[in-house]
Amino acid sequence: MSKLDILIIGAHADDAEIGMSGTIAKQVAAGHKVGIVDLTEAELSSNGNVKLRKEEAAAASSVLGLSHRSNLGLPDRGLQATSGNIAAVTEVIRLHAPNIVFAPYWEDRHPDHVAASKLVEEAVFNAKLRRYMPDTPSVPAPELYFYFINDWRTPDLLVDVTEFYAIKEQTLLCYRSQFGQAAPGEDIAPTPLNQGYIERVKARDALLGQRKLIPYAEGFAVKSPYLVELFGSASS
Ligand SMILES: [Zn+2]
Repeated sequence: MSKLDILIIGAHADDAEIGMSGTIAKQVAAGHKVGIVDLTEAELSSNGNVKLRKEEAAAASSVLGLSHRSNLGLPDRGLQATSGNIAAVTEVIRLHAPNIVFAPYWEDRHPDHVAASKLVEEAVFNAKLRRYMPDTPSVPAPELYFYFINDWRTPDLLVDVTEFYAIKEQTLLCYRSQFGQAAPGEDIAPTPLNQGYIERVKARDALLGQRKLIPYAEGFAVKSPYLVELFGSASS
């Protein structure tokens, strides 16, 4: 088992970076073990190809200093919460026994992000069931937070990523096949990703930061209440 503090799961390489590479860089800098598991090889993407996407993911992973990155090779556009897909994701969660799992936010223009969100939620639930796949030891239920890819709303949690924003931009630039503008003669289909997408992500993160008067923040949604300590014992 390779224990991780934080495991981020995305449908495609670049999802985790769009949503939260500032937070990832911040947690790595604080000494935590962070890993990303991409569910598909994005073989149906309009631009780039599987080999290039893997190279781009490897480049972004080394910028972030990840402890782990892998790809489950589930079918692109086939991320429904089937028993086989749930078993594959549950196995990954049990293997790394993270304290926190991050999944894509449950509303998004891309149906694979929505499907991935549900799939991870089901797998997080199953990971603790000792009678489910008894050959892989069950793990305590990790916290489950949701990061924003395309759609977003007022977040439940905000992380100040101002100090790490340059790293975030660097990780996004690794995905040239997705976010780059076409050079003359290059066969690149116009998609929402290559029409100023990085600038729009930056604008979103600046707007999220505005809520706390900081330059850049990444936002997260939760489904179950977040347990907080208020104050310690009052000094008289
Ligand atoms: Zn995606």
